[in-house]
Amino acid sequence: MNPISFLDLKAPYIELKKELDAAYQRVMTSGWYILGNEVTEFEKEFSSYCGSCECVGVANGLEALTLVLRAWGVGPGDEVIVPSNTYIATWLAVTHVGATPIPVEPCESTYNLNPVLIENAITVRTKVVLPVHLYGQPADMNPICDVARRYGLKVLEDAAQGHGARYKGRRVGSLGDAAGFSFYPGKNLGAFGDGGAITTDDAALAEKIRELRNYGSRVKYVNDVAGYNSRLDELQAAFLRVKLKYLDCWNHKRSLIADWYQKNLPITCPDLILPTVPDDANPCWHQFVVRSQSRGSFQKLLTENGIGSLIHYPIPPHRQSAYDSLSIKLGSLPLAEKLADEVLSLPVYPQLEIDCLAQSLFARPICRR
Ligand SMILES: *Cc1c(COP(=O)(O)O)cnc(C)c1O
Repeated sequence: MNPISFLDLKAPYIELKKELDAAYQRVMTSGWYILGNEVTEFEKEFSSYCGSCECVGVANGLEALTLVLRAWGVGPGDEVIVPSNTYIATWLAVTHVGATPIPVEPCESTYNLNPVLIENAITVRTKVVLPVHLYGQPADMNPICDVARRYGLKVLEDAAQGHGARYKGRRVGSLGDAAGFSFYPGKNLGAFGDGGAITTDDAALAEKIRELRNYGSRVKYVNDVAGYNSRLDELQAAFLRVKLKYLDCWNHKRSLIADWYQKNLPITCPDLILPTVPDDANPCWHQFVVRSQSRGSFQKLLTENGIGSLIHYPIPPHRQSAYDSLSIKLGSLPLAEKLADEVLSLPVYPQLEIDCLAQSLFARPICRR
């Protein structure tokens, strides 16, 4: 029996080798490697995919978020509301512009920012609410945007795990004032290296970010602001254009695996807490995350059956040494801490074969009552 790896980053290349190799040839023979036709075309294709007016390609997901905050003038003295249980990059974007992340706990059923708790966290310093579509499940955007509107706050979606997910029929990336995407290889739409993008309907914001990503320059050698070098690579854009055509199909395959887990995990493991999907949400299943109070032994038994798994994430941002300076006390974000102790991500990727998964999962009993 073949072991089931947690992720297989080579599989998409094998599947699309002909098209990806052709894209590589096209860029290599063009003689144009930075901000050319591939980036421009990808931006058009991805904004139309997300249902947003604008897309700006940048170097990675962290900088996508950072550049939006910077373009909005968020800086020292300002506060940004973030989930307590996210990948640290969400918080890093906030601290990189000099602002303070204000953590808010998630809903225990969806693991996404709890809209009911946002109002309490708002102060005169609050500028932005930054929900994350964690594990590919869309955050509950209507109540989040409602409270943000009432207080005059911007909403920035961290869509790094949300490519193609839908909320009330609308795609992630078109739900807030702007969104940041990552094309890190393991994401649902992944490059073969780093990449990121911003989507928005705000043409002036998009223009500002185009300037910021390119040294603060609109006209070559004329610099209006002190910008960055944060451009989406031409070669990666060409690869992403190939993979974007398969995103819906691949997300569908992920959802079949998720459905299979939802049906079959309770048979072998009745005590696991499975993902909850609200009626108005179509997740893109970036991760399939279960919870168990005996995670360690469950993970060990999965390993013995040849099934890989990972923890997203074992240490919440406020417990990282990187954020000692924020002085957030142990126990003050109990749900984030509890989730960090209980969550486990199971393999879910388009090339994973359900038959193989079934054979491994049922090879030996993995849970005992
Ligand atoms: C991956 C990720 C990021 C950062 O993206 P990079 O491209 O790796 O910089 C930000 N937020 C979340 C939630 C992520 O999963």
